[in-house]
Amino acid sequence: MTDANRKTLKSVLESAILYLQECGIEDAARDAWLLMEYVSGMNHSTYYANSSDEMDRGQYQRFRELLEKRGSHIPLQYLTGEAWFYGLCFHVNEHVLIPRQDTEVLVEEALSHLSGGERILDLCTGSGCILTAILHETPGCTGTGADISPEALEIAAENAAELGERAQFVKSDLFRDVEGSYDLIVSNPPYIRTQVIEELMPEVKDHEPRIALDGKEDGLYFYRRIISDARGYLKEGGYLCVEIGYDQGQEVRELMEQSGYTDLVVRRDLSGLDRVVSGRKGPV
Ligand code: GLN
Repeated sequence: MTDANRKTLKSVLESAILYLQECGIEDAARDAWLLMEYVSGMNHSTYYANSSDEMDRGQYQRFRELLEKRGSHIPLQYLTGEAWFYGLCFHVNEHVLIPRQDTEVLVEEALSHLSGGERILDLCTGSGCILTAILHETPGCTGTGADISPEALEIAAENAAELGERAQFVKSDLFRDVEGSYDLIVSNPPYIRTQVIEELMPEVKDHEPRIALDGKEDGLYFYRRIISDARGYLKEGGYLCVEIGYDQGQEVRELMEQSGYTDLVVRRDLSGLDRVVSGRKGPV
């Protein structure tokens, strides 16, 4: 092999970045690096100290495979199998939505209503990241995560394994198979209007579970069901906190008001967009 053909870490990384750029991947340099880190176990300092070394053949093959997948717009987190949320690392696969940073404000809102000992229900739990993050912060609380997808529940249970008995999971279409009463109900339901899904990034529209995104015609389908049914599962004075799309604050707030919730709050995410609505179950 001539010297020019040597596949050094540096040359492999540089061509990987170019390749991802050509595929239209937004953050090509970051993703190429993260895949290299994932495949080789290197960190920045070991990379810089060894960047002119030849890359291990097996690792190179594996890197090429993953790069091609990323080039076809499969989200990075599905390739590495993990995503960070609220300071914790979660297992993810194509059966669950990748946790979004925007959703951390939902966890914050939920935590503001908990002091210890409460029971929490997380509807459409997906990867279980919301319930797990909440219970991680509140050692005295217990919770149930519900989802219609058995594949999602498997991942959620894995993610919550460290919490032991404090986290339970149930397969349920919203409240259908949920039992008991709760101090706090939290949910990040599907809320994208069906028509808008086609306009989303290929990573989202082609690879994340449609069932976790599609809020039907006006995007509010699941809020209507959750807001009216939650009353039957909330204790008096309990809170309902839901994530919303940036343009749904007013509508979801009104739905909650009409159903008799009080103390309504619309909270913004770090980008300054409406992201959470919460309210308290008042007497009808
Ligand atoms: N926030 C997600 C997105 O923008 C949607 C999440 C949802 O529908 N619950 O893709």
